[in-house]
Amino acid sequence: MPELPEVEVVRRGLERWVAHRTVADAEVLHPRAVRRHLAGADDFVQRLKGHRIGVPSRRGKYLWLPLADTDQAVLAHLGMSGQLLVQPHEAPAEKHLRIRVRFADALGTELRFVDQRTFGGLSLHDTGADGLPDVIAHIARDPLDPLFDDEAFHLALRRKRTTIKRALLDQSLISGVGNIYADEALWRSRLHYERPTATFTRPRTLQLLGHVRDVMNEALAVGGTSFDSLYVNVNGESGYFDRSLDAYGREGLPCRRCATPMRRRPWMNRSSYYCPKCQRAPRVTP
Ligand SMILES: [Zn+2]
Repeated sequence: MPELPEVEVVRRGLERWVAHRTVADAEVLHPRAVRRHLAGADDFVQRLKGHRIGVPSRRGKYLWLPLADTDQAVLAHLGMSGQLLVQPHEAPAEKHLRIRVRFADALGTELRFVDQRTFGGLSLHDTGADGLPDVIAHIARDPLDPLFDDEAFHLALRRKRTTIKRALLDQSLISGVGNIYADEALWRSRLHYERPTATFTRPRTLQLLGHVRDVMNEALAVGGTSFDSLYVNVNGESGYFDRSLDAYGREGLPCRRCATPMRRRPWMNRSSYYCPKCQRAPRVTP
């Protein structure tokens, strides 16, 4: 599953290669890829035709292409294996090519949505005054958003009777933090994933947010990370940040701070990786 840095890498690629181009035609090769567009494939194609793509936007892991001079945007759901590729017209069709978008210019490239497992897709949605597609209006700002409110996040954490990793993955509190970066930021902050959020002081919250931003920015600097070999960015290059991870995927390996073997525990149908010495489990209160 791509996380925020991967999605931002794709967004930047689209901004460079697709923004400001006018759609000449589109072709839906698999109906599942537009199943979230309830009016169907023909409607999807007709609505795109003749419209200019605006500057691609992102909130958390959600990515959309505004259609200039309309109140609509194409929302991209990358799912587990979705890729947005910009390819020369003459490049052979990928085995799992689902949607093709051609442009009314002579640049010689087209946008392709390729998805092996068909969990992802594209769909058109109305946008609100803030430009956000209506179906993601409830998603909180992400920590790389200049308008993210650290103080409001801290207060919301304190109010919420939950544990810290659940809070980090709660898209209504903070968006774009997935399992990998949550484990990384918690390791850097020396916080156990089950620590109750009600115990968080303001400095602790701010320190954690700082680490969340650092791991994301470092991933962005190297082009995003992913454990899914299917993930390829908009120009077809794989992400390769995984070697720099300190916690995620390091079960049994020595902690990079104290050399204690790292542990993995099942957590909400996923895993949590942590150092049992640096990240002490909270005491259970009766
Ligand atoms: Zn340690």
